[in-house]
Amino acid sequence: MTRRCPRCGALLHPDEPMNALSRHDNKTYICSACGVREFWETEMIRKMPDLKKKLPAYCYYHNYLPRTPATVMLSFGVEGFYEIDESMRNIDYRVLNEKIGVTDEQAELMIKGSMWGWDQVETRKAETPADGIGRCS
Ligand SMILES: [Zn+2]
Repeated sequence: MTRRCPRCGALLHPDEPMNALSRHDNKTYICSACGVREFWETEMIRKMPDLKKKLPAYCYYHNYLPRTPATVMLSFGVEGFYEIDESMRNIDYRVLNEKIGVTDEQAELMIKGSMWGWDQVETRKAETPADGIGRCS
């Protein structure tokens, strides 16, 4: 049976130890790329503990870039977004957020941080991204 990363939908390596173990529960296997994302989320959470009380470690959002409209992943404290696997890209971000317990309000705050900087999350007014958001390398 092929298994997929619960965060981004990528195929997991058939040998479990070749994947990453999620830091959040220490039992869920995620792909190596998401393992690195979790590492950075943990670092940023350590730097901004007060902001983290209001926000999730990661969530999903709609990328408005006209040529590639798709659901993408946002990481706490990280600017830009991550592309996710084709198997999840066309699922409405609100459905994915609901599965991981993230509210629309939290997703709106996450998009502000990823676009304008995490120091802007609580001060910046809500705006719809006109030109889309930058892709993480
Ligand atoms: Zn993944």
